[in-house]
Amino acid sequence: MRVGIGTDVHPIEPGRACWLAGLRWADADGCAGHSDGDVAAHALCDALLSAAGLGDLGAVFGTGRPEWTDASGVALLTEVRELLAARDWVLGNAAVQVIGNRPRIGPRRAEAQEVLSAAAGGPVAVSGTTTDGLGLTGRGEGLAAVATALLLPRS
Ligand code: MG
Repeated sequence: MRVGIGTDVHPIEPGRACWLAGLRWADADGCAGHSDGDVAAHALCDALLSAAGLGDLGAVFGTGRPEWTDASGVALLTEVRELLAARDWVLGNAAVQVIGNRPRIGPRRAEAQEVLSAAAGGPVAVSGTTTDGLGLTGRGEGLAAVATALLLPRS
């Protein structure tokens, strides 16, 4: 078994479509960036790559692979799952926590878990928290996410 960790932070861009945890959130501003700015999916990807000893998103999907520049977080997660499968790793489970004021995760937790679990190929738990107004997430300037993953060798 191997564990991994991943984090991601993006600035919020007022008026941009919000993609988070594989879902479109109509009631929140989205994150800036080349991609869809899905910090939860990106943190999960990094946790999976970390556990497999494959580096990080930048190493796998960086400047050497421009075709991935604007890929959705779920597309990246699906590709990471396939990279792991090719090395005989399967996801035992993963957890991702979103840190920010909006959107509120709770009402759509089950939906987010379903989308991310399907992409990652194993159970993904999604949670949310705030920082009581402190820091860049507390001021509404950005969204952050932290993820862990446990990989199992394919039996
Ligand atoms: Mg990112």
